[in-house]
Amino acid sequence: MRFYYRGRVALAAIFRALGIGANSRVLIQAFTCLAVPEAVLAVGAEPVYVDIEAQGFNIDPDAMRRAIGPGVKAVVVQHTYGIPAQLEKIAAIAEERGIAVIEDCCHLIPGAERSESSIAAFYSFEWGKPVVAGIGGAATSRNAAVNERLKAAHREYSEPASTRVWRIEAQYLAHRILYRPWLFWPVRSIYRRLGNSGVAEQNYHPVDSAVSPEFNWTMPARLRQRAERGMQHASAIADHADRTSRAYRAQIIAAPVIHPSLVPTGKSFCRYPLRVTDKPSVLRAAQAQNVELADWYSTPIHPLPQREWSSVGYTPGACPNAEQRCSEVVTLPTHRAVRQRDIDRAAAFLNRL
Ligand SMILES: *Cc1c(COP(=O)(O)O)cnc(C)c1O
Repeated sequence: MRFYYRGRVALAAIFRALGIGANSRVLIQAFTCLAVPEAVLAVGAEPVYVDIEAQGFNIDPDAMRRAIGPGVKAVVVQHTYGIPAQLEKIAAIAEERGIAVIEDCCHLIPGAERSESSIAAFYSFEWGKPVVAGIGGAATSRNAAVNERLKAAHREYSEPASTRVWRIEAQYLAHRILYRPWLFWPVRSIYRRLGNSGVAEQNYHPVDSAVSPEFNWTMPARLRQRAERGMQHASAIADHADRTSRAYRAQIIAAPVIHPSLVPTGKSFCRYPLRVTDKPSVLRAAQAQNVELADWYSTPIHPLPQREWSSVGYTPGACPNAEQRCSEVVTLPTHRAVRQRDIDRAAAFLNRL
């Protein structure tokens, strides 16, 4: 595992190691976060959006097959919320058409979950992920040649300035102290205000033509050590997530919500997604009652509003399943700060809808 400043930086490093750059196109699913197209654009390639499954959250293999055209070199396969994508089917199509499969494992627990059918995979250690280090990402490859290229290129990466590292450390400390389900909404609003005023390290920057210097940064050593310590708790994180999602499934019995399909043994939800009929009003009510309920993804390229979709090459209407899912999904936390009383409150809230 090689560490980078963010997950998207790890993804860009994988593209570079695979020779994917200008004049290349990369298939990615709509219903993702801006980090993914940002990495594609950072290496000079073009993102091509593929719709998700009619009832699911991951890339639709048939839509992916249809999207393979001139210049397409790779597909990024995202395991949204920890739900495994149809990797075997995708890998078979990719092999037949000669394109590379890269796994987006940002919603999986690094150190516990990996698969076997991709050339490379990447992880993130950012605030919303199963192992939180503050900021950071990692790339792995099972292919010796790709690993050598990742390793050689990694020597040219440098650490960000120490003022930035200390700012992330301060944020990490605040996160440790404040990240409780019942403080979700107030903390979120403070965090957004600090981010907008430039005090806190933000996850998303405006997309413009200049490639961010972050794409040549490693993960600061102290954050990397924290990520490595965190990964040693992978099975405890998975157990907690499993217990929590099972409790949500058993306790939330309200008619207007649709539960996700169960994940196979050995996989865990990093968030527990529910589909609701009136998402805006459900979110407003959750905020009023202080129940942690996240909105992501709220747009096909979260958090970009529609007027900015063209900056990452997404055309409105291109991926109807993704747009539909954005309009109906809300997610419950499964992280280790979630206690039984939080589950009870969330279930009571949803059952009253
Ligand atoms: C978090 C995330 C990333 C990468 O995030 P970084 O902020 O760059 O670490 C990529 N893909 C998905 C699906 C994510 O959730």
